[in-house]
Amino acid sequence: MNSDKKGVNTVCTHAGELEDKEYKGAVSPLYMSTSYAFEDVGVKRYPRYFNTPNQEALCKKLAALEHAEAAMIFGSGMAAISTALMAFLQAGDHIVLQQTLYGGTYNFAVTQFEKYGISYSFTDGWTVADFEKEIQPNTKVIYIETPSNPLLTITDLNGIAALAKKHGLISMIDNTFASPINQNPIDFGIDVILHSATKYMGGHSDICAGVIVSSQEYMDTVFQSAICFGGSLSDYTVWLLERSIKTMGIRVQAQNDNAMKMATYLEGSSDVENVYYPGLHTHPDYNLAKSQMKGFGGMLSFELNSDIDASSFFKHLKLIKPSMSLAGIESTVLSPTKTSHALMSAEDRQKQGIKDSLIRFSLGIEEIEDLVQDIEQAIAKVKSMAVPV
Ligand SMILES: *Cc1c(COP(=O)(O)O)cnc(C)c1O
Repeated sequence: MNSDKKGVNTVCTHAGELEDKEYKGAVSPLYMSTSYAFEDVGVKRYPRYFNTPNQEALCKKLAALEHAEAAMIFGSGMAAISTALMAFLQAGDHIVLQQTLYGGTYNFAVTQFEKYGISYSFTDGWTVADFEKEIQPNTKVIYIETPSNPLLTITDLNGIAALAKKHGLISMIDNTFASPINQNPIDFGIDVILHSATKYMGGHSDICAGVIVSSQEYMDTVFQSAICFGGSLSDYTVWLLERSIKTMGIRVQAQNDNAMKMATYLEGSSDVENVYYPGLHTHPDYNLAKSQMKGFGGMLSFELNSDIDASSFFKHLKLIKPSMSLAGIESTVLSPTKTSHALMSAEDRQKQGIKDSLIRFSLGIEEIEDLVQDIEQAIAKVKSMAVPV
């Protein structure tokens, strides 16, 4: 299939699919073999070489979705992220990382790099100038995340790609929050794209996987590290992920719509102090988000008024589940301070504007009226309890 000319839902549904020549089944056959012939074959296949039939099929779909030449699938988002970083960095190198990263990536940087003789700097903000300021003579990689977790800040993709080219650096992005439906960083000149496929690609909160996409040349470098680190994904899960991605376009569209409506509702509520959503005109980076995203995504964050206790609010929600993760078809909320950013010091969190009262909201595909009603009844309960009778 020539995916260049096809619509995104056609790519989601069909790109890379394996033909069932024998039985003409409607879906890709699943090949669970971990052992393949080595004689009289064109390709020596083995799961940890990332080249089983199902791995190759899924990677064609992933590359097509991100407008890239090649892709690899891993056992988790962190397996993909750590493999990509270690593939392009060596002792003596330096990396510039955006502040307010996914908690696990932040933890990887502060606990692992030093052991390998790699130095790193976090930026003070999200502007291109903030990144340029941190570049040193031995800098090799610039690492960004946009929209970021949990404050949904937006980083300029064109600007970062140009900065990386000017200094001969490799630009990497964690594109998990946007998903390939809302943002394709390759089109803006970013070199390496990372995803936690555990989130929007899986989409049903039942798959853990990770993705790297890039040029064929860069993926050849990634491959050399990947076969050593061994973070491959079981073919059964690969096959399930292929199935999940077929509906990613329509799921994410529904989540975008719900997030926009929810952000608008929360912004108008007298019980809410702040809303962070790049689709709101009041978001400081609205224009930048509009210029580089096809949709504003299904994630938002907000703070309730200080007299409404967040943990008590969580307890009174009936439909929306407090949950560690995100991006499933069910709506979930979490407190970054207690979960995703718990490994970060209170001081660092404060510096980055992550308040204890911040609530991160992952919109699902339920009807928006039901979600708003759940929020309203939970707030009403918390308020009624706070008032002495
Ligand atoms: C979840 C997540 C990761 C890590 O992915 P795992 O699949 O949990 O290893 C990385 N980046 C972002 C933005 C995430 O949300």
